[in-house]
Amino acid sequence: MSSPQEATYGLVIGGAESEGAARERQELLDPANNRPLAQVAVGTVDDARRAMETAQAAFEGSDWAGGDGARRARSLLRLAQLLEQQQEEFARLETLNMGKTLREARGDVGFVIRTIEYLSGLADKVEGETIPVPGSRLNYTVREPLGVTVHIAPWNYPLLLAMRSVIPALAAGNAAVLKPASLTPLTAIRFARLAKAAGIPDGILNVVAGPGGRLGEALVRDSRCRSVSFTGSSEVGHRIAVLAAERLVPATLELGGKSPVVVLPDADLERAARGIALGIFGNAGQMCWAGSRLIVHESVRGALLEKVRAVAEALHLGPGTEDGAEMGPLVSREQAERVLDYVRSAREDGGTLVTGGGRPSTSTLAEGNFVQPTIVADLPPDARAAREEIFGPVLSTFAFRDVEEAVRLANTTPFGLFAAVWTRDLAQAHTLSRRLDAGMVVVNEPPMTFPQTPFGGFKESGIGSEQGIGVVRNYTRTKSVLVNLALPKKKA
Ligand code: NDP
Repeated sequence: MSSPQEATYGLVIGGAESEGAARERQELLDPANNRPLAQVAVGTVDDARRAMETAQAAFEGSDWAGGDGARRARSLLRLAQLLEQQQEEFARLETLNMGKTLREARGDVGFVIRTIEYLSGLADKVEGETIPVPGSRLNYTVREPLGVTVHIAPWNYPLLLAMRSVIPALAAGNAAVLKPASLTPLTAIRFARLAKAAGIPDGILNVVAGPGGRLGEALVRDSRCRSVSFTGSSEVGHRIAVLAAERLVPATLELGGKSPVVVLPDADLERAARGIALGIFGNAGQMCWAGSRLIVHESVRGALLEKVRAVAEALHLGPGTEDGAEMGPLVSREQAERVLDYVRSAREDGGTLVTGGGRPSTSTLAEGNFVQPTIVADLPPDARAAREEIFGPVLSTFAFRDVEEAVRLANTTPFGLFAAVWTRDLAQAHTLSRRLDAGMVVVNEPPMTFPQTPFGGFKESGIGSEQGIGVVRNYTRTKSVLVNLALPKKKA
């Protein structure tokens, strides 16, 4: 593979790669050392219009939407095969652009491959229903693609979170326009090149990088936009919801979290400690569903904290491309500053630093956006760092005396994305799962999901869900056809 610096990354519209209308370029930096990594074309409002126009024309003029789901299934399977052949190159590019470890990036690309395989099997099963109605009538429904779907993706899982909504939209027969995060557009652009090679018609998958506030909003406001899938901050999610409502188009919003991890006194503390560490230090904590609030029974608090601290302090920090790196840098200098600011505010609000809390002292990491795995204990539940999404490797811990208190603490934030429970008592696990106000609950697992598993949150964490067997239907509309069969016979 040529190094990303040598490659050109443009806007992919109608199967061709080009500069933006303003011929503006953005320089991306490698988060591990802040050296220049690649130049990317920056799209404008005019480019947004061109992408939407092109997608609409492809939707109407190609054989994609036309009803032959088996044709779509074949191209999607081919795409999965091509991606599998290039899995290592994609993973490496993701690591260089976003900072995560190669191991994590390989996992992300693997998840995308499995998602395409899973959804390609549904592309020819977008079925309607027949409905019994009174009289001599036939009533049936057909599921039609929506048209042009808009997808706005974040930087923490750049390819995975983009494709999680793009692939079901394509499987249903739509034409998609994707706006990746400005910091991390490289794998999405490379993916669009692959889609062409897999036989997906030009214009069915378009990728336009550019500033969310201008280009992203222009895509949603465009009269051809028939649905929006957004993953990112709750703040921008609210804005997208307003824009979508103004245009009466459906929006799937996957937003932030402040997820509780509840540990009961009978839990396997050794396994729990490893799972808790993975759930907050994986992807350097930049996960919407990070288990960022540890809510532990007071009788095992000390023992568990010691174990989690030991795992945190043993983690090897390094550039994601380095052999043996277990935690990479944060995506940008600003994100690292933002996280460290939360740690300062946690300490000012009475939190006790158990470990971490700063940048690593190793000189080889000084140029990168590294932040130590951090644990803060005794934080008041209403402190800023205990309520807001930090989006970095910072775990806050709280002790409880009885299950009622654990549930109250767990449900206290405005978010409701994810929760974990660690216990050997399965009856207690199921009861707690029902009481936790979260779209996803895992028991005795770190955050875990599969393409088959619905993924979505309650409250400020969003609306609707991605993944799962129902997701292709999200990108269709239902048409009812009612036929009166009791026509009098025509006289001969
Ligand atoms: P944002 O929500 O700002 O960005 C997510 C995506 O939305 C990006 O593609 C962004 O484009 C785009 N965008 C931004 N503003 C608009 C707009 N007005 N209209 C349309 N699209 C828009 O997240 P940030 O990257 O700024 O991260 C800030 C914080 O959000 C994080 O620290 C974290 O707390 C949270 N977050 C949560 C994520 C999750 O998975 N739940 C993912 C990412 C962030 P551009 O990149 O050009 O700004």
